[in-house]
Amino acid sequence: MVCATCGSADVSRDAWGDWDVAAQGWVVRTVFDSAHCHACDGETRIVALGD
Ligand SMILES: [Zn+2]
Repeated sequence: MVCATCGSADVSRDAWGDWDVAAQGWVVRTVFDSAHCHACDGETRIVALGD
């Protein structure tokens, strides 16, 4: 997955992270459509490579 604007793989999506008591860590429950590129430092669209 890469940023549609600059091609960087340094991208994130909004998500819910749920606390997992047994693992004592955060587990991603749901990933939302809103995307952020850390290279562009802004909102972006994420595209899959190789499809
Ligand atoms: Zn970008």
